[in-house]
Amino acid sequence: MATRVALVTGASRGIGAATAHRLARDGFDVAVAYASRGDAAKAVVGSIGALGRRAVPIRGDVSRPDECARIVVEAVEALGRLDVLVNNAGVYERALLDDTSPKAWDRRLAVNLHGAFYMAKAAVPEMKKAGGGRIVNVSTQLAFRGTSHGADYVAAKAGLVGLTRALALEFARDSILVNAVAPGAIETDILASDTPEDRARRIRTIPLGRVGRPEEVAAAIAFLVGPGGDYITGQVLHVNGGSLMT
Ligand code: NAP
Repeated sequence: MATRVALVTGASRGIGAATAHRLARDGFDVAVAYASRGDAAKAVVGSIGALGRRAVPIRGDVSRPDECARIVVEAVEALGRLDVLVNNAGVYERALLDDTSPKAWDRRLAVNLHGAFYMAKAAVPEMKKAGGGRIVNVSTQLAFRGTSHGADYVAAKAGLVGLTRALALEFARDSILVNAVAPGAIETDILASDTPEDRARRIRTIPLGRVGRPEEVAAAIAFLVGPGGDYITGQVLHVNGGSLMT
């Protein structure tokens, strides 16, 4: 049987890099897509190679449909097929409505929401050729609870949940299963600007008493694209230490 292939966007760092590593350990060859940090992406590719799996770095801006189409073409040319797409690339900026220009709004919606649509549009025909596939969209707990300083991010990530449900219904007959994960606070560059006070406040809202690790989100994604996810589609798996209950 041919080795299955996963394409992970935003795989140069954080949750995406952890997911690329985890899927490689689970037996996938992996396309490591990134925006600009080629050295980081190549390091991920190198460590996947050391696991005995094939990997390829692919640069591209997911906010552009032509680049998304090219990312998929390059992944299939390099690795032979496409079975799994993880739409993980995302940007967050702490911004109040007054400080958010229409241009900034458009840009953040384009990366956080439109990119998942463009990537899915390019990937689905390849998954049909492979006889089925899995798509996982990386949303956030903020899509469910909101936040007072990131309306564009919340709107885009809530949109991803709607996209997940719609695509799950549209492609169920093609054996393409589409789910989302909704992480809580996870230790990546996104939290780097936290002050100690921010950190303490954040942790007070998390029943498990700590922020999550990228590997813990990667484990949820690996579950959804592995045999455990065979009968799961259109769902959101929350990975947040219990924080949506508080
Ligand atoms: P991160 O460490 O900031 O990494 C972001 C990744 O996205 C990088 O690989 C970056 O590539 C890539 N990227 C950014 N803009 C892009 C674009 N226009 N086109 C293609 N790739 C682009 O992020 P993270 O914390 O791991 O978050 C990953 C996902 O989880 C995001 O969707 C985020 O919204 C979501 N999430 C994160 C948290 C959290 O607390 N960390 C919580 C909930 C949800 P380069 O390295 O090349 O710049």
